[in-house]
Amino acid sequence: MLFLNSPIQEIVFQNQNFLVKRDDLLHSDFSGNKARKFHFFLNYEFPNIDTIISYGSNQSNAMYSMSVLAKLKGWKFIYYTNHLSSFLEQNPVGNYRYALQNGMEIKIKDEIFQKKDFSENVVFVEEGGRQKKAEFGIKILANEIIDYAQKEKIDNLKIFLPSGTGTTALFLQKNIPYPVYTCNCVGDEEYLKKQFFGLEKDSTKHPQILSLGKKHHFGKLYGEFYDIWEKIKTETQIEFDLLYDPKGWLTLLNSNLKDENNTILYIHQGGIIGNESMILRYERFKKNR
Ligand SMILES: *Cc1c(COP(=O)(O)O)cnc(C)c1O
Repeated sequence: MLFLNSPIQEIVFQNQNFLVKRDDLLHSDFSGNKARKFHFFLNYEFPNIDTIISYGSNQSNAMYSMSVLAKLKGWKFIYYTNHLSSFLEQNPVGNYRYALQNGMEIKIKDEIFQKKDFSENVVFVEEGGRQKKAEFGIKILANEIIDYAQKEKIDNLKIFLPSGTGTTALFLQKNIPYPVYTCNCVGDEEYLKKQFFGLEKDSTKHPQILSLGKKHHFGKLYGEFYDIWEKIKTETQIEFDLLYDPKGWLTLLNSNLKDENNTILYIHQGGIIGNESMILRYERFKKNR
């Protein structure tokens, strides 16, 4: 399976120009930063592997992407989650629904499972696809951006993307000469810095964390998140993810990155399938607003 060199699109949002790296268009079934993070596994044969095991939330984008990977590789996919409501079980939507369709076997993590218990036929992936092998695909992303910037003669390029585990932002910064900016969506800034150090000891190679100066909890619904998401969609015709990108765009617009005559490239990291369940949640949320 081959990925496109995903296009870089010029957009105008709130009278400002941005470039958007359309990694949401990488491939019809396998897109965004999760596809980049798992590219390594697609690229090589693993004759001794027949199972992939991971864990995390029951609506995770990484879970869905691993179900696609397992299907493409002919591997079994076992996914542990803490909790599954009987409502979701009976009415599967979003990432959960499509991962099941790809053959995911879901297990409730009621007993502690340990990596060392798994045999050699298993690939174990940490929550959110956090793994060293992710650098392989993210380096390809970095090279696509470098080629573009050289061809278009852009030298004041600044890159922005919102972070979960920070794996994408970190490996991007490690492999690109332009500054990479990010914001923490999952934990606080200290959590994100810790994630960076887990992958790279040298802090001069870390992305810079921009702050919105306001606390948001991951996965929680906020009126201002939905509003910015809807505005971008209306103004640019691009659908972004509802979990990470609203905080990403609010942080970027609130920063002074734009004031310095920089060219800003925002990385669209996919996640659109997850919007199915998020939109349902926001519909209920807005009714009660
Ligand atoms: C997973 C994901 C992220 C976070 O990626 P990390 O590498 O964990 O920082 C951001 N945006 C979208 C749409 C995602 O699916």
